[in-house]
This record gives sequence, structure tokens and C-alpha cells, in this order.
Amino acid sequence: MQTIKGNPGAPGIAIGTIVLYTKQASDPAEEMTFATARAACVEQMKQLRQRALEEVGEEQAKIFTAYQMLLEDAYLFQPMERRIAAGEPPEQAIGAECEAVAQRFAGMKQDYLRQRADDIRNVGNLLINRMKGAEPGLVLPEGESKVLLAAYELTPADTFLLDKKRLGGLITEQGGATSHTVILAKSMGIPAITGVRQVLSALGQHQNAVMDGQTGELILDPDAQTVQSYLQKQDSQHAFREKVDRLDCRQAVTKDGEIVRLCANIGSPRDMDALQNEEYDGIGLFRTEFLYADSAAEPTMAEQEAAYRAVLERADGREVIIRTLDIGGDKEVPYLRLPKEQNPFLGNRGLRLCLERRELFVRQLEAILTASAGKQVKIMFPMVTEISELVEAKRCLGEAEHVLLEKGQPCCEKVKIGMMVETPAAAVMAESFAACCDFMSIGTNDLTQYVTAADRGNPHVQKLYCPYHPAVIRLIANTAAAGLKTGTEVSVCGELGGNPLFLPLLIGLGIGKLSMAPALLKTARFLICHMAKRDTEQLARQILELEDADQIEAALQRTYQKLLKNIS
Ligand code: PEP
Ligand code: MG
Repeated sequence: MQTIKGNPGAPGIAIGTIVLYTKQASDPAEEMTFATARAACVEQMKQLRQRALEEVGEEQAKIFTAYQMLLEDAYLFQPMERRIAAGEPPEQAIGAECEAVAQRFAGMKQDYLRQRADDIRNVGNLLINRMKGAEPGLVLPEGESKVLLAAYELTPADTFLLDKKRLGGLITEQGGATSHTVILAKSMGIPAITGVRQVLSALGQHQNAVMDGQTGELILDPDAQTVQSYLQKQDSQHAFREKVDRLDCRQAVTKDGEIVRLCANIGSPRDMDALQNEEYDGIGLFRTEFLYADSAAEPTMAEQEAAYRAVLERADGREVIIRTLDIGGDKEVPYLRLPKEQNPFLGNRGLRLCLERRELFVRQLEAILTASAGKQVKIMFPMVTEISELVEAKRCLGEAEHVLLEKGQPCCEKVKIGMMVETPAAAVMAESFAACCDFMSIGTNDLTQYVTAADRGNPHVQKLYCPYHPAVIRLIANTAAAGLKTGTEVSVCGELGGNPLFLPLLIGLGIGKLSMAPALLKTARFLICHMAKRDTEQLARQILELEDADQIEAALQRTYQKLLKNIS
């Protein structure tokens, strides 16, 4: 028995036999030219889009529309065509051009944008395989046990075409939590693990295994006792899911009456689709950098306004927190010509950059104020370390208001100003910062990275990037206490805000609002409705006494397991 630790992908437990997928066409059809293969791939994406629309839904179908658009993108394909016409082997030309574009995405800070690098590479591979005559779609072997498909990487098309009756789970080396393949696996209810190193040599063909997509654990050759315990875990997870799906409470209220507001994190107006059938109290974090990173030039005022207006309208009177541009030296937005930096995460990012590129910043503020005329909007600044930065940011907001006033342009009159607490400086000085703004939201993704001095995107230091670290928790506690003392709203909008293990602790520390990915809202509401505020406060007191991350993790796990037990 051997345990391998990958990264959590799509939740769920699967027990079965490993099948290694190497993408060699076993019975190749006729080889194709570049142009015919490209047209065939476009056609296939259209068909998959239609099938996805019928079988899983619009959100998933859009993945194939995005692939179709990439395949039709002249900017991506013209250089390849030129190289092939000049005599370069197509595989080399396609690979090199896709890699060059993928690299630009791979260096970006936001996980979502980094994952788009995989999409570009996938499109290249689709095309290369098609030219070699490989038909898409893999036939899974017949047999008693479910197939745990292990591959270096899988495209959404590969994933979608698999026989769901035979498929138990997916294990890949590439891809991440926000890769399209993982998003599809989630909607198909297939457990997935990513980031398994040397996947094709570390795992054996037809080896028995158990996988847990929630923890990222893969157990090879499990003994009977392990299989039994995972079967039980699988049963209780199914039962839990059913209960969550039956939940009919519209608001997250603890058993002793404490209301916790649950909001959603979005990155574009399109993400509002995922909230169509959800109960939520507002948008707790609208990451606006996508607007800038997804286009070839700074978005026009009209484009910016349209994006903000669309979100405000679809939020339908609920609060909306728009976070101003949070890009930095590590995220390439070519038209901004950001100089290369030695330590980009410690460099010119977030509000620092905006204060330096003041005109760009003021234009964004003008667009937000215009789009929210007659409505209420909250504006939040990222990566703050000094009070003077907050003061300067407010001055920029004043400038934007002045410009609009001069033009006679109606604009929002009741803007609330807030900041992200994601640097140790801001968390330690939370009380002083609280006096200078209307609300604060803790960005636990960056806070963890800065407190532990471990790059959030570097797999070599992932063990050190530990949100259970007592220093991280004490800084969250300090910020929550500052909020309570000064009457300033404090929320959490980093990943911990939607993490079931952390929910009782955050509520116990006095956090009254959590913002998370739309898919996590229902489970969070369900869990909160089964907690008592006084128990969470007791837990928070206990956790703050602990000095060791492992002990804290174990205590949170125990509390969570107890909560689950009490529910059943
Ligand atoms: C955070 O740092 O926790 C956060 C929400 O911001 P981002 O992940 O966009 O850096
Ligand atoms: Mg952040």
C-alpha cells in the first residue's frame, strides 16, 4: 500500500483500477493536413458544445465554445500557418506557437488565468493528434471495477467523451483546481486529482487504487481495511450531498440565531450565470483584473462601465464589492509595459501599481462610479500596507468624482470604501486601518503567503504555505477583533472563506460575512445552519491557544467531523 499526495480537484471518492492514458492513436485514421485538421477540430467542438448543452448545462457548454474560438483565432494560428508554409514540421510549429502564448498566461498571478495556459496547450495537442489521425475519445476497457483514468493531461473534450458508466475518477499531472477539465469533472460528478508527479511512471497499469478528490489523496494497492473505510466515507459523502441538496433554508443562520451573510466571488459578469439559482447576499469580491488581462489594450470606458453595470444589474439590489485592479509585476498585461521584477509578489502590485499609474486608476474609478449611478456600490483596494496608500486612493476617488461632476455625468453618490487585509502590516495594524475605511475583507490567499513567506503558486513550498499556521490565524483574529471594536465590517474573501473546515473558526472569531466561489455557497449555508455560535466561539478560544499548525488542523478536522456526525 502506498499513498501519493496530489492536489484536490473535483470532490468525491472513487475505488477502482488504474488505466494509463498515453494518447497514442491505436488504430489511426487517415492523416490530415493542418487546415483540414483545424476544421475537423472546430466541427467537433461545435458538436461537443451541443451535447454538453443537452447533458450538463450551459456553463459547461461554454468551455467548448471557448475552445472553438481559440481554434478560430487568427492571432494564434497565422504564425503557425506561416511556419508550416515555410517548411517547418507542423508538430513543431504548432507546439512552439502554442507554448509561446501559453507561457504568457502561465506567468500570471491569478489561478484562473494561469489555467488558461493549459487550454492553449490543449488546443495545440488536439490539432497535432488530429493531424496524426487520432480520433478523439477513448474507449475505456470493460471490467468489473471502475476505471481510474491516469494521464499526463486531459483536455475537456477527452474528459467529456469518456463513458461515465465505466469511469470512476481522473488523475492527472497537469491542470489545477480551476482548469476546465476539473470544472467539467465537477459538473459530471467525477472525482479528480491533479498535480500527481510523474503520473505515468509512478502508477502501474491495472493497479488497484482508492482516490479522494477532496483531499487529493491517492492510495495504491489499498488493503481490505482501507477499501472498507473509504467505502464508508463514500456512503457518508453521498448522504451528506443529498441532505445539502434538500436544504430549504434561504439564509445562513446558526442554531442560536446568528446571521452569517454569504456572498460570492466573481471574476467577470459571465460568472453571474453560476448564481442564477443560488441564494446569496451579494458579491463579496469582483476581481476586475480579468477585464484588463483578457484584452489586447486597456478596456475602453464603455467596456468597463458595461461590465460593472452588468454585475450590478444582475445582483439585483444586493451589495456589490468591486475590487480595483490587482495586477503586478508577475502578471503580464503587455500594453501596460510593466518592468520585470526580481520579486514580483513583493513588488509593484495592486494598489501600489494603481497609485503609480494614477490615470489608469482614476479611469477605472470613473467607470465604476458611472456604472453605479443611482445604485449603491462598494469599492475595495487590494494589497494595502500603509495608511497613506489608503488616503491617496481616496484622493484618487475624489478626483474621479470631480471629473464626472465637471462633465455633468450622473454617478454613484453613496460609495463605501474598503480595503483587503492581505499583508501582515494591514492585519497587525487592523484597528488603525479600520478607522480609515468603511469595511475590510481578509484576503487569506495572500495573507497566508506573506505570513509564511511561501509563494502561493510555487509547488516546492506548498507545505509551508499553510493556512493552519497559528500566525495566520492570529492575524485573522486580530483583524476580526479590530472590526468588532471599531464597528467596521470585516469579512473573509480568500479561499478560507468557503472552506468547510474553517467556517466554525471564522464565525467564532466574529466574522459575520464570508465570500466564496458560487459552487460552495450551498454547503456553507447548510453547515452554518447546523452550528451554534457559542460553540464556534469556544472553538476559536481553543484554537488561539495552540501553537502548532498540525494541532490546529487536527482540531478543525475533529470539529468538522463532530458537526457532520451531529447532522446525521
Ligand atoms: C486573497 O488574496 O485572498 C484574495 C482574495 O485575492 P486574490 O486571490 O485575488 O489575490
Ligand atoms: Mg490577494
